[in-house]
Amino acid sequence: MNRKKFLQQLGTVSLAAYTMNTFAFNSFTSALKPSAKMPVLFVGHGSPMNAIESNEFTKKWQQLGQSLPKPQAILCISAHWETEGTFVTAMPKPKTIHDFGGFPQALFDVQYPASGSIELAKETKEIIKQTSVGFDEQWGLDHGCWSILKPMFPLANIPVIQMSLDYRKDAAYHYNLGKELQQLRYKGVLIIGSGNMVHNLGLINWQKMNEPEYGFDWALEAKEKLNSFIVSGNHQQLIQYKNLGKSVSLAIPSPDHYLPLLYTLSLKTNKDQISLFNDKALMGSITMTSVLIS
Ligand code: ZN
Repeated sequence: MNRKKFLQQLGTVSLAAYTMNTFAFNSFTSALKPSAKMPVLFVGHGSPMNAIESNEFTKKWQQLGQSLPKPQAILCISAHWETEGTFVTAMPKPKTIHDFGGFPQALFDVQYPASGSIELAKETKEIIKQTSVGFDEQWGLDHGCWSILKPMFPLANIPVIQMSLDYRKDAAYHYNLGKELQQLRYKGVLIIGSGNMVHNLGLINWQKMNEPEYGFDWALEAKEKLNSFIVSGNHQQLIQYKNLGKSVSLAIPSPDHYLPLLYTLSLKTNKDQISLFNDKALMGSITMTSVLIS
């Protein structure tokens, strides 16, 4: 639509009001200031109880929150938000979603009252070219996001948006989509993929619930395999994870908790360092292995 036509269609809205709105829009969208390159995280989130417990994993999250450069905003890709199409949350006050059952009331009482960021939602939509990103006003923050952010940034004073996983798409699609987010790292945005690399709930050994570390042989084998490809930068193998043999197929029975890792890895450039943390298996069939790119 050309400008003249657009102004005609505005009808009774005056040119002055239009100019003013444009000005307001521009100053609004420029709210994300340029920054030094931000790190990128993949966080193995594990049990939602991590939001209120203190353990070696949450202590590491806490420590990261204190040592990373303070983000202007956070974009979280959580295993727990799958949609048809790709969406970003676009509301001023995202609600804390308690998307689980069978946990103590104390966990249901947790709120993570971070504000949203319409600016970041708009910016994300703008820079992604391979699909049309939709704005979502219903979701909020699910536990894949807030259970790690609560220990990491307890003040909840950094705006947060989530981006959904299009469950119809393959791993290569998600990896390539992640790449398109690169420029957000230069606008003070901390991008976090949140899932678990080894995540087979059906095979959990509940008797090992209180052990600090326990992994089935296949889980440890999958963990080492995935770790070696992550550290050596062999992303093609990780995209083609379905060809990595029995241990990896047991580790990734469905892609939801794995795909957030691909978003994180896709953002690693040649100049970035990569390191692993919380690299432990729990209850046989879960790993907490996490990645810092900086
Ligand atoms: Zn989860």
